[in-house]
Amino acid sequence: MSNSLLPQLIQAISTTIENNADEVAELDRAIGDGDHVINLQRGLAALQAIEAELNALDWPPALMKVGMTLMSTMGGASGSLFGTLFISMSKAAKGQTLTTETFADIFHQGVEAVKQRGKADLGEKTMLDTLIPVANRLQEDSAKGTEYHQLLNNLSEQAIAGMASTKDMIATKGRASFLGKRAIGHIDAGARTSQLMICTITDLLAQQN
Ligand code: ADP
Ligand code: MG
Repeated sequence: MSNSLLPQLIQAISTTIENNADEVAELDRAIGDGDHVINLQRGLAALQAIEAELNALDWPPALMKVGMTLMSTMGGASGSLFGTLFISMSKAAKGQTLTTETFADIFHQGVEAVKQRGKADLGEKTMLDTLIPVANRLQEDSAKGTEYHQLLNNLSEQAIAGMASTKDMIATKGRASFLGKRAIGHIDAGARTSQLMICTITDLLAQQN
């Protein structure tokens, strides 16, 4: 990761979340308490405020700083979960050279940590329904040596499929779990923001290479 990539990603993600804020708020209102996008925007604003500091860091400490900042500013279930994702990725990244394969492993470890932190897994109508399939696909494609643009495209498709899969699920974790069958028919807000962020990252990477 070049030093300036992280601020560019944060900027691009902030724009995407801003453009989809009303929809995400509506999703969280339907089966949660409506604050997910506000929590995320607070976290993203905090990251934009430390852009220069992030820019000066090597990527493992930058990931740590991102995770700690999200953890301390976002709030909500998603704050500690997204925070955990980046903190765990930072730990896994320490001493590694950045390649598609090492990143696949680092992302996988980050998602594993989110699973542990949230005591959740695939099929529970959460952000993990986006994150787990993407982490798995990234590992498979990097092991197979899939061409870079094809790999990015596969990850976008997987993120969208994972996000969409939450629509027909009953939630067994988080606030939506209180609704039982009434949660069916609604996409999970965290699955949607995770997908939006992943698709923004893959789009930006595809444009740059
Ligand atoms: P809160 O639920 O505390 O209001 P947010 O609204 O910011 O927090 O985030 C809600 C999102 O967090 C959900 O849409 C879901 O994707 C995710 N989430 C909630 N609980 C869990 C969990 N145990 N494991 C994984 N993700 C979860
Ligand atoms: Mg909420």
